Amino acid sequence: MNINQIEQYLNDDSPELLESLAQRAEALTRQRFGHVMQMFAPLYVSNECVDTCTYCGFSRPNQIERVTLSVEAVVQEAEHLIKQGFRHLLLVAGEHPKHVSPDYLSSIAQHLRPRLASLLIEVAPFAVADYARLTQAGVDGVVIYQETYDQQRYEQVHVAGPKRDYQQRLAAPERAAAGGVRRLGMGVLLGLSDWRQDVLQLVDHVRRLQKKYWQLDYQVSLPRLRPCAGGMANPVLVSDADYVKLICVLRLALPEVGIVLSTREPQNLRDGLMRLGVTHMSAGSKTQPGGYSESTEATEQFEISDERSPAQVAAALQTYQLEPVWKDWEAVLHGSL
Ligand code: SF4
Repeated sequence: MNINQIEQYLNDDSPELLESLAQRAEALTRQRFGHVMQMFAPLYVSNECVDTCTYCGFSRPNQIERVTLSVEAVVQEAEHLIKQGFRHLLLVAGEHPKHVSPDYLSSIAQHLRPRLASLLIEVAPFAVADYARLTQAGVDGVVIYQETYDQQRYEQVHVAGPKRDYQQRLAAPERAAAGGVRRLGMGVLLGLSDWRQDVLQLVDHVRRLQKKYWQLDYQVSLPRLRPCAGGMANPVLVSDADYVKLICVLRLALPEVGIVLSTREPQNLRDGLMRLGVTHMSAGSKTQPGGYSESTEATEQFEISDERSPAQVAAALQTYQLEPVWKDWEAVLHGSL
């Protein structure tokens, strides 16, 4: 599907189009990914941050309890998730070169990776050499959202700190790919700017990287803004109907790419989207460091919406004949489990 066709779909609000997109997205997802859903959990390791981002609870000026977990405390958090069945973890942190360095993350990876099926990181962008080191330490993949491709808006909402450099962030997924990661997660934060344009730019960005780094496993996500400490004024709201259409269009535009859906979205919408294009879901998430073991008083990054436990989400998947996969996703797809 070319970019003009995608744009045409995004600008057409007719219910007939939505129905047809939903049917095509569901069929394509089952054909490419089978009747399975990969389950993962975010593990927040630090909420310290040197950036001022107007939409985020961890933004530097916010007067919140700041915590960076020790490597031992991260392992303890991971134990809670492993007990619940998770084997795919995403380490998340604010941007803080001193507290959340490549050394710190490498040390965590060396401790955790032997117990997991995959370990991804969603932290500050690094240099190619740092990504190479992290890959060697056991990090499988990197998640870097551009947030918005509207540069003017980007500079308005990223008020201060290294994240304010639009071009530096734009080039970060390619640096991770050049550093040897196997998985690359990309996305935009819906609510910051014109979401149709942001999704078009995201598709274009992913396609350009796919051409050069064809061997990587890609995933995309479209989180919507949620309430948080110091919350942002005047978000550009995306309705549930538009959100469903976006997921369907993404599936058709990027047929081989995983689509991630987090607990930011409400239960009923998540249940509907389970069938339509989504391939990776989190459940029972905590968005503050120490949240699973309740070992700190740290403030969450944002409020989650779907508060069901992992077991409850797994049961919901099964009602749609979808098998939650906690461990080895490739083995299921290749029929060896
Ligand atoms: S979005 Fe990221 S960089 Fe910005 S304040 Fe939040 S944690 Fe820091």
